[in-house]
Amino acid sequence: MAAITGEEYKRRINALHTDIWVSGEKVDGRISEHPAFKGVMNSQAELYDLQHSNDFMTFECELTKTKIGTSFLIPKCKEELILRRKMIQSWARHTGGLMGRSPDYMNTVLAAFAASTEILKGKPNCFPDRLEKFYYDAREKDLSFTHTFVNPQNNRAKYSFFKEDVTNARIVKRIEEGIVIKGAKLLATQGGITDEIIVFSAPGVTDNEFAYAFSIPSDTPGLKFICREPFSKESSHYNAPLSSRFEELDAVVVFNDVLVPWERVFFYDNIRVANEFYAKSKFIPFTLHQIVSRQVVKAELVLGIAQLIVDTINIGEYQHVQGKVTEIIKGLESLKALLIISEQEAVIDDKGICIPSRAPLYIAVHTFQEIYPRFMEILQLLGASGIVTIPTEKDFNSSIKEDLNHYLQAGDKKGEEKVRLFRLAWDLCLSSFGGRQTLYERFFFGDPIRVSQSIYNAYDKSTSIQQAEQFIKAES
Ligand SMILES: Cc1cc2nc3c(=O)[nH]c(=O)nc-3n(C[C@H](O)[C@H](O)[C@H](O)COP(=O)(O)OP(=O)(O)OC[C@H]3O[C@@H](n4cnc5c(N)ncnc54)[C@H](O)[C@@H]3O)c2cc1C
Repeated sequence: MAAITGEEYKRRINALHTDIWVSGEKVDGRISEHPAFKGVMNSQAELYDLQHSNDFMTFECELTKTKIGTSFLIPKCKEELILRRKMIQSWARHTGGLMGRSPDYMNTVLAAFAASTEILKGKPNCFPDRLEKFYYDAREKDLSFTHTFVNPQNNRAKYSFFKEDVTNARIVKRIEEGIVIKGAKLLATQGGITDEIIVFSAPGVTDNEFAYAFSIPSDTPGLKFICREPFSKESSHYNAPLSSRFEELDAVVVFNDVLVPWERVFFYDNIRVANEFYAKSKFIPFTLHQIVSRQVVKAELVLGIAQLIVDTINIGEYQHVQGKVTEIIKGLESLKALLIISEQEAVIDDKGICIPSRAPLYIAVHTFQEIYPRFMEILQLLGASGIVTIPTEKDFNSSIKEDLNHYLQAGDKKGEEKVRLFRLAWDLCLSSFGGRQTLYERFFFGDPIRVSQSIYNAYDKSTSIQQAEQFIKAES
C-alpha cells in the first residue's frame, strides 16, 4: 500500500478503540471529529495528501516497488540526505514548522533505529531482526507514531535510584506471549491520534525491569492516554490562525498491565544496551537533522511575522527595531548554515549509510532552545499593544464593524486585515498555544542544561588543544 492519503490516516485512527481522555472524559466516537483533535488531525491529513503532490515526497521501495514516504528513507549518499531535508521542509512549510510531531519526526526516529541494529546484534535479549522487520512493515503501511521515552517527574535527584520507584513504567512479567508493562511514562505528544506508540526506556537505567524498547498499537488493552486540556478552544482560523490548526495535545501515558507481544519487543532486560542505544545509534544525528530542517522553516515564519508587523505599523526607521529583526535573521541564517554544514560533512559508515555531522546539528538545536524564547520576546516588543487589541471574527461581523475597521486601521490595511496579522502574532507569542510552543522548543529534545553537557562531552576538541599546545611547548 505504502504512502497513504489523509483520508486513510483518519479512517485508520477512527477505527482504533484507543483509551484516550480529555478534561475528565473518555473520548467516544470518531476521534477526528472531536473538538480537541479535529484541527490537528485535519492538518496531519493534509500532510499525508501532500505526499502525493511531488516526486521527492516519496521514493520507490527496492523490494516491493511501492512508493514510500521519503521521511522513512535511510540515506545512502549526500543527495539522499538533502532529499530528506527537502521533503521535511516541504511538510514544515505547510505547518510553519509548528507541528513538532508531524509524521516525519517519528518516521525519522524509526529509520534511525533500524539503521542502528548492529548495536543489538549478538547481545542478550536483543532482537535486531524484529526491529528491522518492524521498520519495513511500518514504512510499507505508512504507520503514524507517537513516542514516550522519559519517566514521570516524581524524583529528579541525582541519587533517586536509592529510593524505591513507584511510578515509572516497568516490566512486571515475562511470559510466553511477551512482556507485561505496568506504570507510567512522562508524556507523549500526539498520544492517542497515531497508529502506534514507540516506547523506549529513558537513559540512566539501573535495573533490568526499566530496560526495554518496543512498539504497540495505540489501542492495545491496558494502555491509556490522559491528555492535557486543549489550549485552543477555537475552530475559527481568523481568531486562532495557528492553534485552530496545529494544537498537538500532550498526554500522560499509563500502562495498566499492558502485554507487549514478543514480535514487538526490540530489547528487554539489558541495562547496557538501554543506556547506550541513544548515544551510540544514529538516533541523534538523524533526528536532529529532521528537527533543524523544521526549525529553519519556523524561524522563517517568525521573521515574516516580525517584518509584517514592522511594515504594517511603520516602525522600520528605528534602529532598535532593525536590530531586533536582525537578531531573528542572524538566528535563521545560523541555523541554515549549521544544517548545510551537517550535510557537507556527512560521512558514509561501514553499512553504507550516510550520517549527517552531529556537532553542527547539536549546536543548532541548542541555539534554538535559547533563541526561540527571545524570538517570541521580540514579537511582543515589536507588536506591543497591537497584540492585545485583537477583536474577534464575531466583532467584525457585528454592527461595530465600521468602528473597528476605521479605528484599528494601519497603513493600507483596514482594521480587519490588521487584526488578522496581529492575531497571528498573538497566537504564536502570547496565547497558551504559543506558550506551549516555546516550552516545546526549549525542552522536547531534552533539558537545555544537559544538551549543553552532551555537546561538551561529545565535541572533539583535539585539534584545538594541539593548536594551543604548540605555544606552550618547551623551546628546543
Ligand atoms: C511540550 C513538550 C512535549 C514533549 N513531548 C514529548 C514526547 O512526545 N515524548 C517524550 O518522550 N517526551 C516528550 N517531552 C519530554 C522532554 O523530553 C522532557 O521535557 C525533557 O527531556 C526534560 O525532562 P523533564 O521535562 O522531565 O524535566 P526535568 O528533567 O524534570 O527537569 C526539570 C528541571 O530540573 C533540572 N534538572 C533535572 N535533572 C537534572 C540533572 N540531572 N542535571 C541538571 N539539572 C537537572 C532541569 O535543568 C530543569 O530545570 C516533551 C516535553 C515538552 C515540554
